[in-house]
Amino acid sequence: MDFSASYSDSPLRADLIERAVDEAELPALLACLAVATGDESLIPDRLRPDPRPLGIVPARQGGLDQSCQQEARRLAVAALQRLTQHGATPEPGLVDRAIAFISGPTDASQRDFLREELGLDGDLRRPGWSQEQVAPGRRLRVAVIGAGLSGLLAMYRLAQVGVDFVGFERRSDVGGVWFDNDYPGARLDANNFLYSYSFAQKAGWKHYYSSRDEVQDYLRSMADAFGVRQKIRFGTAVTGIVFDDDQRVWRISSDGPDGPTETLTDVVISAVGQLSEPKLPDIPGLKSFAGESWHTARWNHRYPLTDKRVAVIGTGASAYQVVPSIADAVGHLDVFQRSAPWMVPTPTYHDEMPPGLRWLFTWVPNYHSWYRFYQFWHNVEGRRRFAIVDPSWDVPGSVSPASAELRSYLTDYIRGQYEDRPDLAQNVVPAYPPYGKRMLRDNGVWASTLHRDNVALVTQSISEIVPSGVRTCDGRVHECDAIVYATGFVATDMLNTLGVRGRGGRRLSEVWGSDPAAYLGITVPGFPNFFCLYGPNTNLVVNGSIVTFSESSVNYVMSALHLLLESQARTMEVRQAVLDDFVAMVDEANRHMAWGVEGVDNWYKAASGRVSQVWPLEVAEYWRLTRRADADHFDLT
Ligand code: NAP
Repeated sequence: MDFSASYSDSPLRADLIERAVDEAELPALLACLAVATGDESLIPDRLRPDPRPLGIVPARQGGLDQSCQQEARRLAVAALQRLTQHGATPEPGLVDRAIAFISGPTDASQRDFLREELGLDGDLRRPGWSQEQVAPGRRLRVAVIGAGLSGLLAMYRLAQVGVDFVGFERRSDVGGVWFDNDYPGARLDANNFLYSYSFAQKAGWKHYYSSRDEVQDYLRSMADAFGVRQKIRFGTAVTGIVFDDDQRVWRISSDGPDGPTETLTDVVISAVGQLSEPKLPDIPGLKSFAGESWHTARWNHRYPLTDKRVAVIGTGASAYQVVPSIADAVGHLDVFQRSAPWMVPTPTYHDEMPPGLRWLFTWVPNYHSWYRFYQFWHNVEGRRRFAIVDPSWDVPGSVSPASAELRSYLTDYIRGQYEDRPDLAQNVVPAYPPYGKRMLRDNGVWASTLHRDNVALVTQSISEIVPSGVRTCDGRVHECDAIVYATGFVATDMLNTLGVRGRGGRRLSEVWGSDPAAYLGITVPGFPNFFCLYGPNTNLVVNGSIVTFSESSVNYVMSALHLLLESQARTMEVRQAVLDDFVAMVDEANRHMAWGVEGVDNWYKAASGRVSQVWPLEVAEYWRLTRRADADHFDLT
């Protein structure tokens, strides 16, 4: 499959170019055009964007001043006109130079990382081996549980190396959490270009932050392009995954259209992720409610909201999207807030990209890849420095001088939207430090929704659910017809529904308790040939891209399978000491991040207080650690 853009038949039109360039992201366009035309003079040092923008809100156009922007536009227009006349004359030798134009100087291993993310040369992460070459005659059987972003990728990689697999998916289609979360207003909170595989990028995104349907369409199209759909058993829930110590195989029990089935496999890849099991709050009386209630990830589309009294419990990422989307239709809306969320100003959050920019993506060879790369570079470490704890800093609500500066900036931004409503203003600024939880992207819709006459922000804590509504600790009952639980997911019990039992019948749920840990988030002692994707300690709060993590994890699993085949072993099991060292490393780092400090509550922490869900180090470090499975880390049997 060739995903790379074609350099031929470009319908670039000279009369449209100037306008389009006005809407372009200039640093990415110059880098793109330098490679497309072979003209290095398009990326002079004086037009280099700030490689590590340190401001709270990154400066536009890479921080170039007006005269540099004008020069960049002039160069870009001339280069695009040359493209329309002569076509592209790409110079691959300029790619590293153009990468460095955006990233600044990098070392050799970082360059590999960045080239892979740029994705110009096709699928650079494709495994360079096949089962037939490595272990002629051997037929490994693999089960992949879950057909979301990570599961689909794992299936594709398995197909590429010729390993036989079967996919299990309890839903009726691919997409994972994007299939489930079809609540009103659901959309990305990461730039959508980043929400595509590095080797299968999409030029034609419509919005800066795509709607749920656009993302779901992308994943559906990927399942077809990968050719894996027919290998997936849809509507089939896995109910048990048990290691057979005698046969050294996994026995997978599932229930689907053909009834209960047992499937034997050599390897299991769990791709169910961290956010697939909805969490209902532990509030007394939940079942007593006489009206309708549901969780955001199980939206009740049959229930007509028009003119109804609705309660939304929670003010996290899901609530942030639901509340403004339903406020117009409902009669009255009570929003129950336990902790106020931090919001990062994002004026374009709901906007379509301007037509000139979209035209450039469509017709300038690889501009979308360079744009994605530019977003990637600025997100990869993002505002991580604002989340790092300064041990000598002792000001409540922040973790360092930089964090306090960010707190002050965001507080002004949030409060500024409630100047006319002191009653709201006093309740909308979080007490915890910025990045204690994932920030929400805000273009003002939250504040304007809370301003509405038919919307009330309730900050009294909830004491119980009663048949007629929600009782708060002041004794008041907030009567309602429907309750929406926007209360998140049981991330720490992520694999419990699968009933995994490893060597000697040990249950994964017992080994983990409510504090999961896996080496690189992928592999667990006592569970041979069992791999997790988007497992413990691989979630991101402030920086990076979950797609990069997914691709890195799958690379590692494929490398592990290569090791298994090459060593002619039946099973491989990570050593306890390797996991212990890894846990010590991530724990130490997490203790020094805003989300790990004592007193900050979030879904990233296990009951013990240990951060079991989040990756605390640089993204490139995860990429580096997952490049190759090390034989010394495993017992190969
Ligand atoms: P969440 O971030 O865990 O938020 C849950 C909300 O429910 C919080 O406001 C929480 O309050 C509140 N809550 C929980 N139990 C409660 C109780 N007993 N009483 C009152 N309030 C209670 O869940 P989410 O919004 O579904 O998001 C989960 C994750 O999914 C996000 O962090 C993000 O990674 C992902 N997500 C992504 C997108 C996107 O990309 N667009 C959209 C949605 C979700 P406290 O804060 O006080 O705990």
